[in-house]
Amino acid sequence: MTSNFQARPVGGLASGAGWLIALVLLLAAAQASAATRIEGVRMHEAPDYTRVVFDTSGPVDFELFTLENPHRVVIDLKHAEAARDLGAGLARGDGARVTAVRTAPRGAEYRVVLDVTGKVKPESFRLDPVPPYGHRLVVDLYGTGPGRRTPAVPLSDHRRDVIVAIDPGHGGEDPGAIGPARIQEKDVVLSIARRLARKVDAMPGFRAVLVRDGDYYVALRDRVAFARDQRADLFVSVHADAFKMPSVSGASVYTLSDRGATSEAARWLAEKENRSDLIGGVGDVSLGDKDDVLASVLLDLSMDANRSASFEAGARVLGQLGTVAKLHKRRVEQAGFVVLKAPDVPSILVETGYISNPAEARRLDTADYQERLATALASGIRNYMQSYAPPGTLLAWQREQGDRKYTIETGDTLSEIAARFGLSTRRLREANGLSGDVIRVGQTLVIPAG
Ligand SMILES: [Zn+2]
Repeated sequence: MTSNFQARPVGGLASGAGWLIALVLLLAAAQASAATRIEGVRMHEAPDYTRVVFDTSGPVDFELFTLENPHRVVIDLKHAEAARDLGAGLARGDGARVTAVRTAPRGAEYRVVLDVTGKVKPESFRLDPVPPYGHRLVVDLYGTGPGRRTPAVPLSDHRRDVIVAIDPGHGGEDPGAIGPARIQEKDVVLSIARRLARKVDAMPGFRAVLVRDGDYYVALRDRVAFARDQRADLFVSVHADAFKMPSVSGASVYTLSDRGATSEAARWLAEKENRSDLIGGVGDVSLGDKDDVLASVLLDLSMDANRSASFEAGARVLGQLGTVAKLHKRRVEQAGFVVLKAPDVPSILVETGYISNPAEARRLDTADYQERLATALASGIRNYMQSYAPPGTLLAWQREQGDRKYTIETGDTLSEIAARFGLSTRRLREANGLSGDVIRVGQTLVIPAG
């Protein structure tokens, strides 16, 4: 807008009236440049809501209301300007709640109309700049979608599945780490998590639930709440790391720290991951203070037991990760991740590698490496669960049915022990979380039933 006014040939007017006109034009130019510019719009489809995000040049005042016949959401942006084809490039998938975005200037206002498929309940808020984003106006439309997935109902018989909640980090507005060639953490971890879910589902006695199964954001505390709603036996958050030095690489496994992180790097990483809510856009929406108080009481009660279970799960997963990936650290690290704060679900966070390392980023982006990572994660999960089968699960029942123990004596080999108990070497290895054939005298092996 400013450039339009500057292009006018005002310099040719010499009279007093000319000065006045020039002054008016300058004022108009100043006012026009102060208008908030709507720079772009994005949309994210989540199972229970659609998020529409406007990038704005500054904080924007707005009024929002809905209309019926047909259903519309109207947003009047005060003292704003935007491109006429603002919503033109917006991708809308099948079953999207928003079918069209229309825009038109209305005096000093700018009107945006969202055509929606049915009745919606909008919630709106502004977000302050957080890299990589500037000012944003967020409109969440709730109400006409398929709704939240129903929680898993525990089976009444004694052989329920072990439930593993798999949490692909970030999503939607929050890309997570961005690597060379614009590889985004949110995409890589979603792909690894989906592969992991398929592998977990394929293991007898296991069932996977994905915290996020699409490109949308889920608040950190909602991820924890989801795992608890689903009565998960284990929560695994999948991430990829970034560091300012591209040479740094390798996978790591984290559990929640008691207080304070194990290392400065861990603290820094936790701060970065915990910032997700600012980027992903929880905004002014209340996080439920009462729940926080209850959670902190529960936390004190069961946190100790849960922390040692988490650490054990982390160790098993790290052991398996080490067979396919370079490890950043050889031991389970600890940091204050919000997403690991369930008081009663053992929880681990896996950084699958450094997306800031060009070679590792390329690897992380291939189906082959994602598949190998998922396989390693799944067998780590199985190792842990077989040792700590929760009561009432098929896994626990199988153990009770006749898992025996055998203590290794001098001269024993793994294949010979397997043959003695009518098992394949592979089955014996799996039951004991062994990756090779190395055993030592005095070590106790679980001899699986059947
Ligand atoms: Zn992350």
